[in-house]
Amino acid sequence: MYKCNRCNTEFLDGVQCSVCLNRYDFPCAGITEAGYRKLGDRKLTWKCSVCKNPSPTPRKSPELESVLTEIKFMSAQLTILPGLVESVKKIQEELSELKSIKAELADVKSSVASMHQSMSSITDKVAKLDSEVQSLHSFKEQFTSLQKTCTWDVWSDERVNDLWNLS
Ligand SMILES: [Zn+2]
Ligand SMILES: [Zn+2]
Repeated sequence: MYKCNRCNTEFLDGVQCSVCLNRYDFPCAGITEAGYRKLGDRKLTWKCSVCKNPSPTPRKSPELESVLTEIKFMSAQLTILPGLVESVKKIQEELSELKSIKAELADVKSSVASMHQSMSSITDKVAKLDSEVQSLHSFKEQFTSLQKTCTWDVWSDERVNDLWNLS
C-alpha cells in the first residue's frame, strides 16, 4: 500500500519517480496503467511532472520584492537624473553670473569709495577757496575804504593847488 504524493490517495499499484522517488497513482502520474506497463525498462527513468518541469521561477521572497521595488524606484529616479543634471548646470551658471555680479559690485564699491575720497578733498578745497574769497572780500573792503581816503586826499590836494593857482 502506497500513498499518492499528490492527492494522498492510497493505492496498491502506481508509479515511482526516478528522481524524487515519490509515488503517484496513475491519474496523478498522468499516465494510464496500460501505458505504464508498455514503458518496460523506461519505467526506471520515469519522472513525475514536478521533476520533468522543474519550476524555473522560484517564488519571490519578500526581501527580493522590496529590492525590486527599490530598483524600480531608483530607475525612476535615474529617468529624472538628466533633468537634475540640467538644473544643476543652470544653477552653476547662475552662480558664476552671481560671482561676476559680486565682482562688479566690489568694483562699484571701490569706485564709490574713491569718489567719496575725491568728494571730501573737493569739499576741503571748496572750504579753502571760500575762506580765500572771504579774505579777498575783506581785503576789497579795506582797499575800497583806503581808496576813498586816497581820493579824498588827492581831491583835497587839487583843491589846495587850485586855490593856490587862483591866487
Ligand atoms: Zn493521486
Ligand atoms: Zn519526481
